[in-house]
Amino acid sequence: MDVRNGMGLRPLGTSAAEFEQDLLSNLYYRRGTTVESASTQDAYETLALTVRDRLAERRVRTAAAHYAANPRWVYYLSAEYLLGKQLEQNMLYSGTDRIARIAMKQLGLDPDEVEGLDVEPGLGNGGLGRLAACLLDAMATLDIPAVGYGIRYDLGIFKQTFKNGAQVEKPDDWSYQGNPWEFPAPDDRQTVFFYGHTERDANGKTCWIPGEVVLGEPSHMLVPGHGTDTVNIVRLWRARGSESSFDLSRFSAGQYAEAVDEAVHAENISKVLYPDDSTESGRELRLKQQYFLVSCSLRDIIRRFRLRNTDWSEFPKKTVIQLNDTHPTLAIPELMRLLVDEEGLNWDLAWTIVRQTFAYTCHTLLPEALETWSVPMFERLLPRHLEIIYTINEHFLAEVREAFPGDVDRVRRMSLIQEEPDRRVRMANLAVVGTQAVNGVAELHSELLASTTLRDFAELWPAKFHNVTNGISPRRFIKIANPTLSSLISEGLGGDEWINDLDRLAGLEALADDESFRSRWRAVKQANKVRLGLGDPESLTDVMIKRFHEYKRQQLKLLHIITMYHRIKANPGQAYVPRTVLFAGKAAPAYHAAKHVIRLINAVAAVIDADPAVSPYLKVVFPPNYNVTLGSLIIPAADLSEQISMAGKEASGTGNMKLALNGALTIGTLDGANIEIRDKVGADNFFLFGLDTPAATALKNNGYRARDHYDRDPELRHALDSILDGKFLGIGREVGESLLNWDEYLTLADYRSYVDAQDQVDAAWQDTDQWTRKSILNTARSGFFSADRTVRDYAAGIWHVNPVKVGR
Ligand SMILES: *Cc1c(COP(=O)(O)O)cnc(C)c1O
Repeated sequence: MDVRNGMGLRPLGTSAAEFEQDLLSNLYYRRGTTVESASTQDAYETLALTVRDRLAERRVRTAAAHYAANPRWVYYLSAEYLLGKQLEQNMLYSGTDRIARIAMKQLGLDPDEVEGLDVEPGLGNGGLGRLAACLLDAMATLDIPAVGYGIRYDLGIFKQTFKNGAQVEKPDDWSYQGNPWEFPAPDDRQTVFFYGHTERDANGKTCWIPGEVVLGEPSHMLVPGHGTDTVNIVRLWRARGSESSFDLSRFSAGQYAEAVDEAVHAENISKVLYPDDSTESGRELRLKQQYFLVSCSLRDIIRRFRLRNTDWSEFPKKTVIQLNDTHPTLAIPELMRLLVDEEGLNWDLAWTIVRQTFAYTCHTLLPEALETWSVPMFERLLPRHLEIIYTINEHFLAEVREAFPGDVDRVRRMSLIQEEPDRRVRMANLAVVGTQAVNGVAELHSELLASTTLRDFAELWPAKFHNVTNGISPRRFIKIANPTLSSLISEGLGGDEWINDLDRLAGLEALADDESFRSRWRAVKQANKVRLGLGDPESLTDVMIKRFHEYKRQQLKLLHIITMYHRIKANPGQAYVPRTVLFAGKAAPAYHAAKHVIRLINAVAAVIDADPAVSPYLKVVFPPNYNVTLGSLIIPAADLSEQISMAGKEASGTGNMKLALNGALTIGTLDGANIEIRDKVGADNFFLFGLDTPAATALKNNGYRARDHYDRDPELRHALDSILDGKFLGIGREVGESLLNWDEYLTLADYRSYVDAQDQVDAAWQDTDQWTRKSILNTARSGFFSADRTVRDYAAGIWHVNPVKVGR
């Protein structure tokens, strides 16, 4: 039943004429202007609101259905969300994409210009934040009652520019013009405490006397499902000074800066997304952010629980809280504190509830990326939480001692507190101990977690460990990103049901042998290259798009480029397969080694460009500021997907899935989800190279010497020497030195195998029909990598939740 009927509201129309009327009305009543005097920004915001209104009605019905069902909820806690632009998605999901464009044209507005003002909220660094966004999309599409919680950073991931080829970071004030997709909800603001000390009262009850009070103000964005009426939300918290934080007496005395000191201090908590996803920086502020997110979100979750429930023992039946990596792990001691200190539950009951409520997704294997916090700092900021962690640890270590009598070393390794060389709280250990399920994000990753990184825990609680292979939203990464290929697929399959049921892509296999389908497939790829507008659309478009990290090995791709360059220089007369090599990605601002690689890529690109003997065959392009928007332009144009990390280092990858789904062939190592991609698409349709994880580990353990490879392989030596000799504008000697003397990620060990595999790529490319066939098969067999499958795996194996259908 339409809620609006009861409210006397008119339903929103589905025709272009009605949409046009609503545009005019919103322009007038909500922007206070008319078509004649509207700026493009006015037009954009009005369009956004008019689209949003159509989802708001579904949101109201969703909330009503959820209230009536009192279901088990999934609460997804993530420090990052890389949502991508909202307008195109929301037009698609509300079915207004066509009528909106007609209506705008009727009003004399240029739809492309208006839609061009939509901004990408960059509230994440890379894969982890994008996974969060893809899972929210899939949960809504599958009608799972869910709320995403995060932080509304004022400044998102920095904007990357290049100056003389070097990365320069600019602040990303993404909501400077406002954000029409957001609903502020000031009534649901929460109070968050920091610092202070703890006291015991006469009954032995502990209370925390905090030293700082900050307000968390929420706003939410809509998360519509595709092909369903469910509209979930993602709720983002912004820090505010409390009312008393403005010092009027100082202001009156002319001390303007001092007057707002406290408020500024408070608001700093949600000021910036930490641009660094693998090393520590701004430590205390970062820990503050984590607690801020967790404290606000848990109080909100409890508020929501109480709308329909009273009994605490029901809490785990109605609530599952998924921790996206360790950043929100403080939720575990925080819920203990709320239950024991504030609600008066006894410890054991509280602990049972907490453990049943949480689940933890681990995203790394790199030991240096496992979060820890110094005990003195932790104690200063969150004194009560440290006490709670100590108590959890006591109980837990008793359990370990009982299971493994006399194994002192194991107890030391598993403790929530590291003692040497300094005392630190181990967040991953806490996350494993305080949850009912722990999952890795690809088969290999989950195996390695259980056999190496978290081995002690897997031996204690084998049943707790799961695998849930990551996935991507087919709406975002093929339907929206690649509309022409989507149309061709729908035509080939006789319908568009595949968008919500990606396994149906298997139906394309039969068409891979159809000559005319293949030629249309090629034409789409070609047109996507023209749309991208970088490099010759006839050339093999070879892409490596991801964060810059030494383990991902952009430097290996670079050595291959330099080798191609040398080969062409040595034999200029020969025919070479023309390639456009495209890099995109950001390096963490303090990650100097990665920034040197960026600078060297740009230098190599310039040298090649300036060389007329080489440039007809080889072009290196590096568009700045990789984000979801740029990725969505590049991915549909890619022929070759570079997934060349050192085996055992990439947890899963999701870029690899996006590219395979769009018909790129992968060249890759047996790492992360590459293994599953190769299993699905078939070894013949994947270019494999390099050491596998056991071989890489053995090599490292047996004293790897990069220089041996340099000594043995003349092509490699030539490539490295040219870097060391400064042949590329004198840039990049640090990169060469580091590879030759250290090479932490076995780049040189895999070089020969990689270059040979690239030769196979060239050979395969020359058989156009076969290549296209492989491309179609990659798409046809990528159904498994839908985030819908990922969410179904979570729902069945970990969350045990059921969908709630939203009624009409
Ligand atoms: C998918 C995606 C990533 C993750 O890429 P990987 O190749 O899996 O590391 C990072 N950033 C953006 C913007 C993405 O869309």
